Formats: sequence, structure tokens, C-alpha cells
Amino acid sequence: METSWILPDVEDEDAKPFWAGTARGELLVQKCSDCGRMRIPPRPMCPQCRSLANEWVPLSGKGRVWSFVVPHPPLLPAFTELAPYNVIAVELDEDPSLRLIGNLVKSADGAINEVDPHAIEIGEAVRVVFAKVEDVHLPRWVRD
Ligand SMILES: [Zn+2]
Repeated sequence: METSWILPDVEDEDAKPFWAGTARGELLVQKCSDCGRMRIPPRPMCPQCRSLANEWVPLSGKGRVWSFVVPHPPLLPAFTELAPYNVIAVELDEDPSLRLIGNLVKSADGAINEVDPHAIEIGEAVRVVFAKVEDVHLPRWVRD
């Protein structure tokens, strides 16, 4: 898929393992090696115990819709023609305090406006899928 979307930097030092995981079809989060707390987005220090020791652990990729918004113009040009679409916040099954932002789609490569925002329900079960956009494998969500 080619796009004029603004894409994340997959070479970012803190986030590189996350994007390497998505490229393999895995959803990884950082886990503190000292207290065990998982965190996302990636960062060097544990917010709970300030440890710099961490590892990356794979998650199931399952979660629930915690909240969502429906963007309308004015938007960045690449998104204007797709509006209205959905942006969901997903709380992950392994730890509901871990939340990821993405789009609810019908399939990995589906358009971000293919799911009617009025049909989205808070709490509905979703699972991660990955869409390859240029050199980035973006996590997205489908109903589970
Ligand atoms: Zn910690």
C-alpha cells in the first residue's frame, strides 16, 4: 500500500523492537525486568520503579475497544477524502492499562473508513492485524 500518510520512524531507538515485531506479525510491548510492569509507548525508563532494564514480550494481540473518535475535516490532506473514519483506543487483554490507538477495519488492508463508526461499541472484542504501508507494518484492529 502506498500512501501520503505520515508514518512512524521504524528506526527510532526506543521503538525499533516494536516495529521489528509488527513486521513479523507480532505485537510486542516493553516489560520492566525489575518490577514486571509492561508499558507502551516504548521508553527507556520504567514509570513505576525507574529501572532502565527491560525486555520485549509478545502479547496475544487481543483487546477491547476502550474508546473511539470519528475525525471530520479539517484534517491532513491524506485523511480528508477518507473522513469520516474511526480511530479506536484498544485496551489490551494482558493489561487493560496498556492502550494502543489504531483503526477498526474489516481486514488488514481494508480502508480506514470501511467500518461504520455508528456500529462501533465500547467494550467490543478486537484483535490486531498488520497492514504494510511502505516500510511500516501498522497495527490495526478487526472484530474478534
Ligand atoms: Zn519497573
